[in-house]
Amino acid sequence: MRNVAVVGAGLSGLTAACRLAQAGLRPQVFERYPVPGGLARVIDVGGEPLEVFYHHLFTNDTAITALAEELGLGDDIEWLPSKMGIWTGGRLWDFGTPASLLRFQPLPWWDKIRFVVGTLRLQHSNDPMPFEDVTAARWIQDHLGSEVWRTVWAPLLNQKFAEMSEEVAMVWLWRKIWLRGRSRSSSGMGERLGYMRGSFARVAEGLADAIRSMGGSLHLADPVKRVDRLEDGSFEIITKGGGVRADTVLAAVPVPDYLDIAGHILQPSERERLGNLRATAALCTLLELNRSFMPYYWLNIADETMPFGGLIEHTNYIDRSRYGGTHLLYISNYLFPDHSLFGANKRDVMDTYLPGLKRINPAFDPSWIDQLHHFRADYAQPVVTRGYREQIPSMRTPIDNLYLCTMAQIYPEDRGQNYAVQYGDRVAKLMLEDFRTG
Ligand SMILES: Cc1cc2nc3c(=O)[nH]c(=O)nc-3n(C[C@H](O)[C@H](O)[C@H](O)COP(=O)(O)OP(=O)(O)OC[C@H]3O[C@@H](n4cnc5c(N)ncnc54)[C@H](O)[C@@H]3O)c2cc1C
Repeated sequence: MRNVAVVGAGLSGLTAACRLAQAGLRPQVFERYPVPGGLARVIDVGGEPLEVFYHHLFTNDTAITALAEELGLGDDIEWLPSKMGIWTGGRLWDFGTPASLLRFQPLPWWDKIRFVVGTLRLQHSNDPMPFEDVTAARWIQDHLGSEVWRTVWAPLLNQKFAEMSEEVAMVWLWRKIWLRGRSRSSSGMGERLGYMRGSFARVAEGLADAIRSMGGSLHLADPVKRVDRLEDGSFEIITKGGGVRADTVLAAVPVPDYLDIAGHILQPSERERLGNLRATAALCTLLELNRSFMPYYWLNIADETMPFGGLIEHTNYIDRSRYGGTHLLYISNYLFPDHSLFGANKRDVMDTYLPGLKRINPAFDPSWIDQLHHFRADYAQPVVTRGYREQIPSMRTPIDNLYLCTMAQIYPEDRGQNYAVQYGDRVAKLMLEDFRTG
């Protein structure tokens, strides 16, 4: 039997490993963390698992909902209303529904009309081509005007892409608007978002159980240091426990991790190509509060003078009784890993954030914080630039029997759990095809 190693027990690696196991193989999965789930992993809060980074689904996230069904978890996805706001011009505004747009004063009437007409046009354009070679900054300013860009889109893109926000291709924004348009409720009262009762870790655990039950294995807290190529074309996976031989390797890890473990067996040109792909990192602070901070689930911060990019009050979406009554607030910040705040300790980060929190809610006091957690991911959001299609790394790498499944391949959609599952399925299918023909 072919001996397959999978590096990375995020949703893409686990999905692929599960499909390989269903085809009769016994994949060995190696994961750096002691738990599976990758960016969707959890910690315990008040006796309930909670994602270290906030997570929800959109109604058109069909690959993960189908997988949840397959794992017997389909009925555990709850579709709940959520309320969105935006902080701009020194105050809070409701955001994201037609009624809230009518009341949104920062955008003059004429620009509101341009915003609505432009959004509808984007939602009804099915061809990515016209958006691939132009930046969102250029396209929005040319078609919707500089006020719509300055007031709405520039700050929102800045939240995710920091100093590269003006380089993001329009295709990324078009696809996001296109998908969100199809995710809204027909009532026009805003969208319903999906959450897995008991957290999304149940999907990762369900996959891990399925892999084990079919004869595969998970090596948790077992980071892969290197993947070496042997003379016969097979591989040696080097972990702290020594070497494990594999005929085929799937790296289901972020691009920088792939370069760390396999860069030495790639051609310099391939290394350079992959090294040029950029992604922002995520800095996420989770506060357990003894009272509610704001009236929204999701608050966009459209104000570049603020020290963070978004606030997500999870317990304005999921009932706090599940977490022992605690109010849960995530403070989200995407930045490049060389930003001084990224490496700072959690107290220093909090000191930087406090004035911003107080501007939004002047009553806020540090005594509201019962617990403070702090999480980082140095690769969180690939930056899709003009002509990105040409830069997408192939799942079949230039090295025989070495495969890659990574967030940077997701296109034109934005990365997310749904696409991790879809692309995990896709790479497993490719591998099985090659095994049959090769
Ligand atoms: C702040 C934030 C918010 C998000 N919100 C949402 C949301 O609301 N909805 C949604 O659907 N998605 C959301 N996402 C995205 C979602 O979490 C990811 O798209 C998805 O989990 C990616 O899965 P993956 O398997 O591709 O990658 P990862 O989850 O990154 O998995 C890769 C795995 O490889 C492991 N690994 C890396 N190197 C090694 C090594 N050398 N040896 C062993 N293991 C290794 C890592 O530890 C990790 O477990 C969010 C992400 C972030 C950062």
